Amino acid sequence: RRVMSSDSDHKSATLDADPLAAQPQKAWDQRKVVQTAAKVEPVPFDKEKPPGHIRFVCVSDTHSRSDRMGTIPDGDVLLHAGDFTDLGHLQKVKDFNTWLGTLPHPHKVVIAGNHDLTFDPKLMQEIRAGRRPMFWAVRDEEAEMAKSLLTNCIYLEDSETNVMGIRIWGSPWQPWFYDWAFNKERGKPILEKWNLIPEGVDILVTHGPPLGHGDVTITGQHVGCVDLLNTIQKRVKPKYHIFGHIHEGYGITTDGTTTYVNASVCTVRYQPVNPPIVFDLPTPEEA
Ligand code: 5GP
Ligand code: MN
Ligand code: MN
Ligand code: MN
Repeated sequence: RRVMSSDSDHKSATLDADPLAAQPQKAWDQRKVVQTAAKVEPVPFDKEKPPGHIRFVCVSDTHSRSDRMGTIPDGDVLLHAGDFTDLGHLQKVKDFNTWLGTLPHPHKVVIAGNHDLTFDPKLMQEIRAGRRPMFWAVRDEEAEMAKSLLTNCIYLEDSETNVMGIRIWGSPWQPWFYDWAFNKERGKPILEKWNLIPEGVDILVTHGPPLGHGDVTITGQHVGCVDLLNTIQKRVKPKYHIFGHIHEGYGITTDGTTTYVNASVCTVRYQPVNPPIVFDLPTPEEA
């Protein structure tokens, strides 16, 4: 196994936390001297899929507004990067599942985001214990049920699936921001989740962006996860990274190895107007 850690005593192939983990803007100011985040044009919906390819259709942050979306192009695999509801109410989860059922894609892969509260059992426990008064409106929800309602997709949570020979890893965590679902402190706590991602996955789906790609907020600050970028660039090197969360970061960029897709359908004002993002990958040869 390759030893990527700077600590030579520790025989793990995973990374250590970045010294600037808690200062993403500063971390990017250093990296941008040598790193690129070149804009990539999306595949037009009417472009025919090349022979021997798999078509992926990416959406994120639909926030229970998918009925107001425009055209959703057909494809082989639909990917949803979280925030499919506003608060995770079970009826909204059911509605989302029903909507998924109306779509023609033979494969659908979904992760949760910080708004899908009922998917985070630890948070639900705190809500039911009365420790999170801000979320009073979800106090009667049964968290145990939420995941079982998603019958029309593959739900990933720090787990992997193989679709048509393509390895996909999904994870809902994002850097702490007002203590919603699946929040982790920057640095070691969130890196522990990224260290679970196996090398060799083709597509990584997380709710939040990495540093430097689709991660600039309305106030002009880079807020992406430094340790997620390190994990992608130094260790996992997926072909595609799909995410949302920072709605205003919608769009596609590349560092030359990985293509980064912020597929937020909703704008920063929660208008579901950004189109889904399409890409094609060659079908892997049979082993
Ligand atoms: P959501 O509430 O849907 O997760 O995120 C909606 C918006 O909140 C984003 O588009 C972004 O403007 C803001 N936001 C979410 N996470 C962060 C963060 O970590 N830092 C900052 N500054 N803004 C965030
Ligand atoms: Mn919000
Ligand atoms: Mn969102
Ligand atoms: Mn979010």
